[in-house]
Amino acid sequence: MVKVTDIFAQKDKTFSFEFFPPKTAEGYARFLDALAGFNGLKPDFISCTYGAGGSSREKTLDIVDHIQTKYRIPSVAHLTCVVHTKNEIQGIIAEMERRGICNVLALRGDAPKDNPGWRPGKNNFEYSWELVAFIRGHYDVHFSIGVAGFPEGHVLCPDRDLDARYLKNKITHGADYVITQLFFKPKDYFDYVGRLRKLGVTARIIPGVLPITDYKGLVHFCSLCGASIPQQVHDIFKPIADDPAKILAAGIDFCIKQSRELLQGGAPGLHFYTLNKIHPVDVILKEIR
Ligand SMILES: Cc1cc2nc3c(=O)[nH]c(=O)nc-3n(C[C@H](O)[C@H](O)[C@H](O)COP(=O)(O)OP(=O)(O)OC[C@H]3O[C@@H](n4cnc5c(N)ncnc54)[C@H](O)[C@@H]3O)c2cc1C
Repeated sequence: MVKVTDIFAQKDKTFSFEFFPPKTAEGYARFLDALAGFNGLKPDFISCTYGAGGSSREKTLDIVDHIQTKYRIPSVAHLTCVVHTKNEIQGIIAEMERRGICNVLALRGDAPKDNPGWRPGKNNFEYSWELVAFIRGHYDVHFSIGVAGFPEGHVLCPDRDLDARYLKNKITHGADYVITQLFFKPKDYFDYVGRLRKLGVTARIIPGVLPITDYKGLVHFCSLCGASIPQQVHDIFKPIADDPAKILAAGIDFCIKQSRELLQGGAPGLHFYTLNKIHPVDVILKEIR
C-alpha cells in the first residue's frame, strides 16, 4: 500500500478526509455505503480516528483495511497510547503491519470518560513522542508517521512557543508530517507554521478544516478541545443556530472562504473533518480544488 509520504513527494497539495468508526451496527452499515460516494471525490488519502476507550477502537483497523483494500485509497490509522500498555501497543502495531497498513497518526489521546483520573505508569507511554519513537525504532521506514499539531497551542499547553517545541520533539523522534486541530482563523495556522519553521521544522503541516454544520455542537466541542471560536463565527451562526438549512449554507460559504485563504497562502492541502458526511464536503471540494 502507498505511504502518504510517497504522495507528498509527488503532490504539492493533498485533499484528505477524516472519518470516525460509527458506534452502532446500523451506523456502520450506513458508513460503508457512504464510502462509495467519498471514493468518487478522489481523496488523496483518508484517516480514521481511534476511540479513547470502548469497542470502536477495534473498528479503526477494520475501516482502514477495508478502504485501502476495496477502494485502493491510502489510509491512515490513528492510534492513541493512553490507557494501553506498551505491550498492547506493540500488538496493535504488529497487527497493522500484518494487514498491510503502513500509515499511522501517532497520538497520546485523552483519559477516557469512564477513567478520567488515569495516569501513565512505567508500562505506558506518557506522550505521543514516545509512541512515535517506539514505532520508528521498531519498524524503521515501514510506517509513515503523522502527528497532531495545535495552531492555538494544546488545551493543556496554551503557551504556543512551548507547544511548538513539543511538536518539534515529535518530528525529531521520527514523525513525518503534521495534521492540525481545527481552527477558524487562517492567521493562526500561518503563525503556527512560522513558529515551527523558525525552530527548523520542515515537515508538511496540513491544516485540519471543519465545515460548520451544527453551531451548538461546535461550541460544545471547542470548549473541550481548546480551539477558539472567533466573534465573526458567532455573529454568522448564532442567529441561525436553529435553522439547519441556513447553517449548512453559511457553513459551506465560510469553509470555502477559509479553505481558499489557506491554499492561496501556501497551505499544502486540506484535511477535512467530515463527521462521516459526504455533504457538504463534496460541494466545498468542488469549489476549491
Ligand atoms: C489531527 C488530530 C487527530 C486526532 N485524532 C484523535 C483520535 O483518533 N483519537 C483520540 O482519542 N484523540 C484524537 N485527537 C485528540 C488528541 O489525542 C488530544 O488532543 C490529546 O490531548 C493530545 O494528543 P497529542 O498526540 O497531541 O499528545 P502529545 O503530543 O503527547 O501532547 C499532549 C500534551 O502534552 C504536552 N507535551 C508534549 N510533549 C511534552 C513533553 N515532552 N513534556 C511535557 N509536556 C509535553 C503537549 O503540549 C500537550 O499539552 C486528535 C487530534 C488531532 C489534532
